[in-house]
Amino acid sequence: MSERILRAAVIGVGHLGRHHARILSSMAGATLDAVVDVNEARAREVAGGVGARALTSAREVMGQVDLVSIATPTETHAEIATLFLEQGTPVLVEKPLARSVGEADAIIAAAARSGAALAVGHTERFNPAVVAARSAVDNPRFIEVHRLGTFPERSLDIDVVFDLMIHDLDLVLSIVQAEAESIEAVGVPVLTDRFDIANARLRFASGCVANITASRISRDRTRKIRFFQRDAYISIDTGAKEAEVYRLVRSPGRRPAIEGGKIPVRDGEPLRHELEDFVDAVRTGRAPLVGGEDGRRAVALAAAITERMAACTRI
Ligand code: NAD
Repeated sequence: MSERILRAAVIGVGHLGRHHARILSSMAGATLDAVVDVNEARAREVAGGVGARALTSAREVMGQVDLVSIATPTETHAEIATLFLEQGTPVLVEKPLARSVGEADAIIAAAARSGAALAVGHTERFNPAVVAARSAVDNPRFIEVHRLGTFPERSLDIDVVFDLMIHDLDLVLSIVQAEAESIEAVGVPVLTDRFDIANARLRFASGCVANITASRISRDRTRKIRFFQRDAYISIDTGAKEAEVYRLVRSPGRRPAIEGGKIPVRDGEPLRHELEDFVDAVRTGRAPLVGGEDGRRAVALAAAITERMAACTRI
């Protein structure tokens, strides 16, 4: 029996949403019906490239599609996502799920009321380097993260914690599987009136400590996450899509040796894997890999870090 083709719409086709549109328009099992952007010229330009309808209001696609992908600025996520979820239309919301825990809760409640699938765009979970190294990560004692980027001129409705660090907060939470017991954090607003550089040191109940640095005003781009374990060290470069695993090898009568190096990483576009997971979840009725509760946990931790930074800045 042939699979039903799911009709999709992308809401917000700026920097990231145009890639959602490109991928959904070329995905087996889905057809891109419409792209929506309040910027009409942008909607037309992107729609023209992918053979979809160009619309300027999310309400125009309501009831006409089987799923939507939302890549509008974060401040609009809650309003647009609840609109579709209330109607029972499955939604993928770009990260961060929302600006606040209250908004995240409203989105999750709307999904729960209708039973519609809710996925969150924490793309790094689908990064092939993360996928390749994931099984080597086991009870890390210390995690060191650097995510540095150049000034984006976008996403300035949120600070660097909600914009960039949130990727790593989600990754770390998905690995440590515990709440942060203590948070130390410092942030600096440099080019905007929000925090553009941030560092957070998180201690989890297991004793694991994560030291996470994010900047959106750096000269160079760095995407590194390193896990230090009792018997292993794992280093992932999510930008270069490379991973290294080193292990302690013990042999009787000799000092332990450290052995390892680069591990094979499959080629692949994280966003494509994320959208494929969402479409498959809608088709089969299973939960998406990254759901509303994951998105909420990351938002809650980002909010706690930002609060701690604000408290320090006032001193
Ligand atoms: P952007 O400013 O380039 O694009 C946003 C687009 O949404 C614009 O074209 C704008 O006109 C449109 N828009 C605004 N309000 C709208 C509305 N009410 N209805 C329809 N369209 C509307 O921003 P971006 O960099 O593409 O970021 C969009 C979202 O994607 C943000 O939530 C951001 O955090 C997220 N993002 C995620 C990743 C990732 O790696 N997963 C990377 C970049 C951005």
